[in-house]
Amino acid sequence: MKIAVVGAGAMGSVYAGLLGAAGHEVWAIDTWREHVEAMRAKGLRVEGASGDRTVPVHATTDAAEAGVCDLVILATKAMQVAAAATAAKPLVGPATLVLSIQNGLGGPDTAAGILGRENVAVGVVGGFGASMRAAGHAHHNGWELVRLGELAGPVTPHLEKVAEVWRGAGFRVKCFDDIGQLVWEKLICNCAYSGPCAIGECTTGEVMSDPDLSRVSAACASEAFAVAKAKGIRLDFDDPVAYVRDFGSKIPKARPSVLLDLMAKRKSEIDVINGAIPRVAKDVRLPAPVNDAITALVRSKERRLGCR
Ligand code: NAD
Repeated sequence: MKIAVVGAGAMGSVYAGLLGAAGHEVWAIDTWREHVEAMRAKGLRVEGASGDRTVPVHATTDAAEAGVCDLVILATKAMQVAAAATAAKPLVGPATLVLSIQNGLGGPDTAAGILGRENVAVGVVGGFGASMRAAGHAHHNGWELVRLGELAGPVTPHLEKVAEVWRGAGFRVKCFDDIGQLVWEKLICNCAYSGPCAIGECTTGEVMSDPDLSRVSAACASEAFAVAKAKGIRLDFDDPVAYVRDFGSKIPKARPSVLLDLMAKRKSEIDVINGAIPRVAKDVRLPAPVNDAITALVRSKERRLGCR
């Protein structure tokens, strides 16, 4: 299969490296020139939970060089999806499936607005932790599960075929008829810890044990839960606070990516995590003041730290 990974950063490099190692024609497309040059010169090194390998991949900053692909994986951060999807237009033909894999809310919808709803599917990853060690060199800690679903409606044979390609590269993959449920279940957990950990500069476990941050965390989760319910999202639990505490208790030492981004002076994805809740709340006429305040505090912190 001819596959393009647009945004071959930490996660994108894991996808590109493993799919390339499985024998597919992989194009790594990124705006990071030094990384593209390193991949061209020496291949893409992916090491960590899946082993250690250096894979020859095609690499470019210009999607037109790759041409139409069977599968396009959009693996940028959420706020980069609009630009990445626009740049990806030359990769998309009538039979192309575009898989948009971001944390938070809205990445696939943004991609669909640019590349066509009929072409775009949704990916949700769990138990992954990846980082760039250097240009051309990514590391990953976990690769538990890739969940795939259509933007709306049940899984199609086209998506199942793509899932098989991922499985053939060693990923554990499950397809779901209702990906909206998975997106929101993950979002509720992310709301409970992303903003509060970033503000408290602490781990999930420390948020849980702090009497004040744990109240803020519970309120973030409860607001997100109420909004999801009002939107008609199916959720398999009734007590959001118990749900996120159970989630947090399994990863007490975790530092959510929003905190890691702030520590590295990078702009975070807070706008599509806690920041998504007040936006959607407005549509369903609910208040979400805690998520709104937390988002404002994180944004202010980003400005003060000079995050870019
Ligand atoms: P990253 O910053 O490492 O990678 C993004 C890449 O996209 C960068 O290399 C950047 O140069 C490139 N890019 C930006 N704009 C582009 C454009 N217009 N065209 C092409 N390339 C462009 O980010 P990441 O950590 O790999 O995260 C990607 C997504 O996966 C995020 O939504 C993140 O929340 C999610 N995620 C990450 C992890 C993790 O551990 N890194 C785990 C789970 C989920």
